[in-house]
Amino acid sequence: MITSRPLHDPAAQIQAEHGGEPTSSLDGGLAASLERIARLAATLLHAPAAVIALLGDDRRCFGWGDGLPDWYAHDVGVLVRSGLSERIGGPQPLILEDIRSDGVGAASPPSELAFAGVAGVPLIASDGRRLGMLCAIDPCPRQWSDADVAVLNDLAATATIELDLRCRLDERMVAERELRHNAMHDALTGLPNRALFMEQLERSVNRTHRRPDDLFAVLFLDLDNFKIVNDSVGHHAGDALLVTVARRLEQCMRGGDIVARLGGDEFAILLEHVSQISDTAPIAERIQRALAAPIDLGGYQVFTSVSIGVALSTSASELPDYLLRSADMAMYRAKRGGRARFEFFDPGMHAEALRRLQMETDLRRALERGEFCLYYQPIVAIDTGHVAGVEALLRWRHPERGLVLPADFVPLAEETGLILPLGTWVLSEACRQIDAWRSELGDGAPLTLGVNLSVKQCTQRDLVRQVSRALEETAFDPARLRLEITESAIMENPELAAQLLTSLKALGVHVHLDDFGTGYSSLSYLHRLPLDAIKIDRSFVSRIDAEPQALHLVRTILTLARNLGLETVAEGVATAEQWRQLRELGCTYGQGFLFSPPLHPNEMTMLLHTAPAW
Ligand code: C2E
Ligand code: CA
Ligand code: CA
Repeated sequence: MITSRPLHDPAAQIQAEHGGEPTSSLDGGLAASLERIARLAATLLHAPAAVIALLGDDRRCFGWGDGLPDWYAHDVGVLVRSGLSERIGGPQPLILEDIRSDGVGAASPPSELAFAGVAGVPLIASDGRRLGMLCAIDPCPRQWSDADVAVLNDLAATATIELDLRCRLDERMVAERELRHNAMHDALTGLPNRALFMEQLERSVNRTHRRPDDLFAVLFLDLDNFKIVNDSVGHHAGDALLVTVARRLEQCMRGGDIVARLGGDEFAILLEHVSQISDTAPIAERIQRALAAPIDLGGYQVFTSVSIGVALSTSASELPDYLLRSADMAMYRAKRGGRARFEFFDPGMHAEALRRLQMETDLRRALERGEFCLYYQPIVAIDTGHVAGVEALLRWRHPERGLVLPADFVPLAEETGLILPLGTWVLSEACRQIDAWRSELGDGAPLTLGVNLSVKQCTQRDLVRQVSRALEETAFDPARLRLEITESAIMENPELAAQLLTSLKALGVHVHLDDFGTGYSSLSYLHRLPLDAIKIDRSFVSRIDAEPQALHLVRTILTLARNLGLETVAEGVATAEQWRQLRELGCTYGQGFLFSPPLHPNEMTMLLHTAPAW
């Protein structure tokens, strides 16, 4: 009879009985060796049975012989109760003629053990750890000879070598497993990384080759405001945010789904067994709800949201890479649609992405080829109707598309970072143009110059230096420059914006808050910013002659501005009635088609020659 049982560890026993894996890999090979050694011991000592009882995590027993007692197969607790298990773990040999008269300190009748003679020697590893004991046992009392003990010692040494070897193999396996785990997981969140995600995706794609009806979906997630948190609260907080997001994402998912971190603030999810793309909508909503709850970052409460793109595996020919890119494109659409949204991929998005890529290439080339130019729109003193200044407005003379307006390329220039060199060019070109008018027209030249700054420019540490360099190079008087910054640029990071404005003001330039009323800003922060003027957005100004509410709002803004000592510019003045109302309300400046649209520099020169007053 050859059997093996856990020794005296009920947990291991339960695990073994329920088919769980043993706690270490005492695989068939090792078990067979240990049983062979037990058999040799029994045979050489003419004993009815022998066992190797292991300690440690395994607590298993390997034995051979007809005389194996009942506990060996059924109730390992007997050994524990008998107190014998203690001595099996000890460093000394255990040589007993009759265990029943020895009295091992038993709480239970030794008869339960169903044997009398026992000769055991410890198994001690090369590093001194006790591994267990090799015991020969006999149902009858028995005198053991020195030769018996010597044989047992030799066999114990052999068993120890086997176990030692196995132990080292196990360690190597664990190390290898750990290495593979690290290569395939993200160190920060512990989630699968891009490599593992792609591997799983490949597996799912292969499955759809075999079972075309068993579809899956890929979700591409990108946090909406991660950069702000990282920049304002710090990298540790950023890391903590990512970990919290990872845990919440895991909680949203079913067992078989895979959540991975692709890098930065990008995550991906693989949803198995999806029948149609709309099935994923509730899951995307669940994710968004889970992430909507505030996250505490060591005292700071931050809110985060996520943009999600979803792509469904549709045909068997699709590649993992293609699917992930499709989900990415859908995510991009969600982000552009206003964040905290999700979008399903449709094949048209590939065409759109291509168009964008083409446009991006065109944009880069346009800067080299000098295809950009500036138009100028007069800013008029509301009370006199004289030109007080101009605002420089960017245009792109596209070789095929003609004159392209900023709305069609500034956002892309922002995303690609191209707005930075472009913005630098705008600043010096505009300063140069005003000086040219100055030389040509003397006092007839516009006094002030408005230049728009993009969000990206405002988050650049270098901005102040760039502005001062442009001023120096063109010898432009800083007091005549008005930098126009939108509310949204300020709201991206109000604290940083306040610092920036202060440094800009130190150069002597004026700062105007552009598009006022359209952002999320509260009026309350206005007084904390070192502003010179606010530009009231066109959407309000254009309605004051038709809607009492708009009139009321503009009046409120004007009162507020006056109380804060700020000048006011009304944008988009289009009718004489609007102008009249603005004059009555005490607005300082106006700009709009009523006076003039933005003009090419040559047209502007002609206009200025006429010294207009509207
Ligand atoms: P903005 O700064 O609010 O500029 C005013 C926009 O309103 C201009 O559009 C101008 O043509 C338009 N506008 C002026 N008066 C009227 C009017 O009476 N009615 C109507 N319907 N529109 C009027 P434009 O030139 O297309 O510029 C759009 C936006 O592009 C600008 O809005 C500004 O945010 C951005 N932009 C323009 N040039 C630059 C630039 O050099 N750098 C950056 N970063 N952004 C720029
Ligand atoms: Ca502006
Ligand atoms: Ca504006």
